Amino acid sequence: MTDRLYQDLSWKIGDVEITRLVEVVLKSPVETLFTDGTAEILEPFSDWLKPNFIDENDQLLISIHAFLIRAGGLNIIVDTCSGNGKKLPLFEEWNDLNTPFLENMAKLGFPAESIDRVLCTHLHFDHVGWNTKLVGDEWIPTFPNARYLFGETEWGFWSVEEDHFDTGCKEQAILPILDAGLADLVDSNHKINDEISLIPTPGHTPGHVSILIASKGEQAIVTGDMFHHPCQMAKPGLLDIGDVEHDRAEQTRIDFMKTYSDGKTTILGTHFATPTSGKIVRDGDGFKFVS
Ligand SMILES: [Zn+2]
Repeated sequence: MTDRLYQDLSWKIGDVEITRLVEVVLKSPVETLFTDGTAEILEPFSDWLKPNFIDENDQLLISIHAFLIRAGGLNIIVDTCSGNGKKLPLFEEWNDLNTPFLENMAKLGFPAESIDRVLCTHLHFDHVGWNTKLVGDEWIPTFPNARYLFGETEWGFWSVEEDHFDTGCKEQAILPILDAGLADLVDSNHKINDEISLIPTPGHTPGHVSILIASKGEQAIVTGDMFHHPCQMAKPGLLDIGDVEHDRAEQTRIDFMKTYSDGKTTILGTHFATPTSGKIVRDGDGFKFVS
């Protein structure tokens, strides 16, 4: 089971190659992630949620992983997980990680120096962690040859907002990148190249974006935390502890599902456990995730 959760998965969308690299997989009671959620509420959807996304003990599986993308000559990492040595006192299983994430990247053909672009769907701590690494007592950029793309709206929000989870990620993983001159503040539908662009999916955070990959008539979308878990396709209004603007997040999820339950868009879920990819399809009045 563990191997399956941590395996390196790869996809091809036209000419674009995408590989999943897992940092850590967490298990959580439904109500820890969704304050008004319970296992009973999700029971009617067990046929597609279990066993991949909810285990036999009714725990949600939450995979923290990055997507490594090769597109048009660029090496891109989408969301940089939590990182090593980050003090996260509120999150016991996440606190002070020490994983071989960078070594694993290199084994997959993506040594840190080869990264050209770092994309962050939003600026929560588990999406920016490996932006930096600790050398001595200083957090320095992990990817020295990359441009780091931060949403202008997203940074505009967090630059003046308090970090409610007290993760220190602004000081440790974002400001060092700005100080090093490696950050580009971009708008929410910025185009990276012919195959990779951002699409605005606000609500989880005000400047949240998803990543659209389109090549040779095929397309996929990395959804970031617009969906923390596939159960939100059945229940888009569940109160997600991470959503900054709940009503807007719910509306974004619904609008997104209406648009992309088109049968042709592959969804790559940023915290979706193995198999991680699938399609959104209509299910009665709502939607479900078919992997
Ligand atoms: Zn997240």
